Amino acid sequence: MSPTPGSADDPAPGPWRRLHRALMPDYNRKATAYWWVVVCLGVAAVVGSAMSLAGEPTQVIVQVAVGVAVAMLAGIFPVRVPHSRNSYAAGEIFIFLLLLMHGPAAATLAAAGEAAVGSMRTSKRWTSRIISPAVAALAMLGSGALLQATLGALNASGLGNAGVVVVVAMVFAMSYFVTITLLLTAVLRLKRDEPFQLSDLFGVFGWVGIAYAASATVSALLFLVYKQTGIGVLMGLLPLLAMLLATLHYFFRQQESTEVARLAGAEAAEREAANAARHMRELEASERRFHSAFTHASIGMALLNFDGRVLQANPALAGLLGLQREALVQRPVQDFVVAEDRAKLAEQFSAITREVTEGFALQLRCRHRDGSEVWVASHCSFFSEPGASSPCLILQVQDISARRKAEQDLHHLAFHDSLTGLPNRRRFHELLAVAVQRAQEVPGDEFAVMFLDFDRFKLINDSLGHDAGDAFLVQVSRRIQDSLRPGDVVARLGGDEFAVLAQRLSAEAQAVMLAERMMEMLKRPFHVAGTELMTSASIGITFSKFGYTSPEHVLRDADTAMYKAKGSGKARYALFDTSLHTEVAQRLRLEGDLRHAIEAGTLTLAYQPIVALASGRLTGFEALVRWKHPADGTIAPGTFLPIAEEAGMMVRITDFVLHCACHQLRQWQDELDRQQQVQGAAAASPSGIAATPGGAARLLTMSVNVSGHDLAHPAFVARVSRALIESGLQACQLTLELTENILMSRLEGALGALRELRTLGVGLAVDDFGTGYSSLSHLATLPIDTLKIDRSFVARLKVGSREAAVVRSIILLGSSLGKSVLAEGIETESQFGQLNEMGCDLGQGFLLAPPLTAEQAEALLGGASWRERPSRAPAPAPSEIDAQTMLH
Ligand code: C2E
Ligand code: CA
Ligand code: CA
Repeated sequence: MSPTPGSADDPAPGPWRRLHRALMPDYNRKATAYWWVVVCLGVAAVVGSAMSLAGEPTQVIVQVAVGVAVAMLAGIFPVRVPHSRNSYAAGEIFIFLLLLMHGPAAATLAAAGEAAVGSMRTSKRWTSRIISPAVAALAMLGSGALLQATLGALNASGLGNAGVVVVVAMVFAMSYFVTITLLLTAVLRLKRDEPFQLSDLFGVFGWVGIAYAASATVSALLFLVYKQTGIGVLMGLLPLLAMLLATLHYFFRQQESTEVARLAGAEAAEREAANAARHMRELEASERRFHSAFTHASIGMALLNFDGRVLQANPALAGLLGLQREALVQRPVQDFVVAEDRAKLAEQFSAITREVTEGFALQLRCRHRDGSEVWVASHCSFFSEPGASSPCLILQVQDISARRKAEQDLHHLAFHDSLTGLPNRRRFHELLAVAVQRAQEVPGDEFAVMFLDFDRFKLINDSLGHDAGDAFLVQVSRRIQDSLRPGDVVARLGGDEFAVLAQRLSAEAQAVMLAERMMEMLKRPFHVAGTELMTSASIGITFSKFGYTSPEHVLRDADTAMYKAKGSGKARYALFDTSLHTEVAQRLRLEGDLRHAIEAGTLTLAYQPIVALASGRLTGFEALVRWKHPADGTIAPGTFLPIAEEAGMMVRITDFVLHCACHQLRQWQDELDRQQQVQGAAAASPSGIAATPGGAARLLTMSVNVSGHDLAHPAFVARVSRALIESGLQACQLTLELTENILMSRLEGALGALRELRTLGVGLAVDDFGTGYSSLSHLATLPIDTLKIDRSFVARLKVGSREAAVVRSIILLGSSLGKSVLAEGIETESQFGQLNEMGCDLGQGFLLAPPLTAEQAEALLGGASWRERPSRAPAPAPSEIDAQTMLH
């Protein structure tokens, strides 16, 4: 058995199968079979009907054709029943009329035609479009044949009056409708494989059934008219009917579009309402969100009315102020701000009220309940609360105390001295600038500035260490502060320099009294690192009466006055006066020139011979630095060396002297050795001139003066060694001279260096011996070779004088300690003789030779002993060095 076309299990899909899948994919085998049967039968009915009519007279064929055409036309314009999905095709009227006038064949054609048109309109599927006319044809053929038979029977029995015709037509219409419904419903049931149900019939009966019945009634009435009056009247009625139907069609269409519009309107209104509801919900949600954000925000927030009164505050704000939230409400926000900041806050609120601004941002200090200040960054702006009727202000407040504290600390650091906590130089400058300005603007508002410098701070630092130095400075700063009047300011400018600004002075004497009080306070001993320290300060004072315009000038003049105080003996104060300016300017000029001279290498050395008193022979020289100023001429070391010390140039000068002197002596020694060799050779000859006493090679010495700065210099020993190595001089040929004061004041720090130098073989001499206070017990243990008796003793040597006794005891002491003794400043024969008689080893002085130039000194090398010189030079003026006149 070949498979039914369209069956699902068809193995090889042929053209049938493909057509089936394309057209009726939802049709199962039964439904497919049914469809084909109905369609075939329908086609057969149509074809049969057409053939049976073919034999009829032309007039009938025309009427049938017109009837079919009108039925199909009516099918294109159905009358849609309002409020229902049904429509009434008026074609039925004409189909039924054809049935009554020309029998089932004509009506079958019309029904098939009208159904074809109708299904073209209502369905897109070709299966429906084909089966609908087929079903209509079959139903009409069946029902029409039944009607004809019934009417025939009734006419035959004489019952065929007009009323009967109408009733029978109605019954027929029902059966026609039922048949169509059954045949079409069967397709659906078969497709779904469901049994047929009676409800199918009634479910759809309603309106359409009644419409069919009404159509049949109309048809029957028209048929009766036709029977009595002929085709003419019917032709007149048909257009009327058409108009009626058309009117109905358009009326219902109109109704429908009104309804559509109404529905659309209602829908829009509904949408609108839904939108409004959604908006409301969103608003509520946003309000909820705002309130939650407000409540849980970590920054302080408040809603305020326009004069700053709190309407609502969040917990963060309450926490920031240490209050309960309720305590804030209804109070002006200004209440929580410190008094100083209230004005600027009020100003901002008033600007908002006047609509000058819409908000503000301010840094304010709030008052915490515990009394502490809280720095806040506040921001205030317009705010309209969701749902609230009137706008208000929203204030946001962030605690920035930590940041401000850090800023303040940084500021403090930048303007204060970390050791003493006092204002630093920068801060002092600022304060002074304000004072200068005020003194200019307000006559009578005088100030004084004092510059303090401690006379022995460096010593403390060097001998006790920096920690002790720091501790000392802290104590000093306290004492200065304690001696000030309220309103006066003390600052540490750096190192041991302090400055005091005393304001609102009624008289200069007040400042002087203040300075005296400070000096008194500072004179009392300090206890630092277990040591009792005495100190004193030199104070320079200047006054606003000099009409200052810049703080720099004030400080400069106070500094100048301080130097004056120092220069005139330390531990005192000095008032600035304008003559000091020239002094200072002079000093500054010299300082610059000296620096230049050192750099340019234009300093020179003078060499003063040192002589063994007993033999009168030259033993060495003392190197003395000389500066010939390009404009001012020769400047004495006593003038320029203090400037060099203060300006920190001393170390470079000593280096210069060391190198220059060592090189020079090395040259002279070479020269002397050469001379001795020649003399040695001559002595061996028969001429018999006296040879050098002792016969062995004489070693000359070079004495170099050393300052306190050098002794404190950490690389001092290395610097000395270097000079020796570079010049090739033996260490024993070099003697370093330290004044007694330097030696004693720096003894502790310098002892190590002195011992090292001694180990190297370098000689050490105490210069100006007798002017200081060296304890004799100390002297025995010190690594010292020579004591150099100060020239003040030599100058006053007279037999039986106190000085003579001192000199004698120094010479005794020296010999008992194994140290050689040198007397400097020998100007007279009597001095020379006395010293020699006392047993003094060495001598130096104008009598023997003043400081000489290198060439002059060199000329002495091979010379005779001073004893044997025919005449000694008279004592020259100390400042004048003219070797030629002095030596000959
Ligand atoms: P000083 O160390 O006591 O040097 C001796 C000073 O006495 C020299 O003065 C010298 O010219 C002077 N003089 C020599 N014989 C006589 C005399 O018979 N009668 C008098 N009245 N004076 C005499 P000068 O050259 O002016 O030096 C003064 C001071 O300057 C020196 O005193 C020394 O302390 C210092 N000085 C000189 N050169 C240097 C140097 O290169 N380095 C260091 N640190 N100090 C130096
Ligand atoms: Ca000296
Ligand atoms: Ca001296």
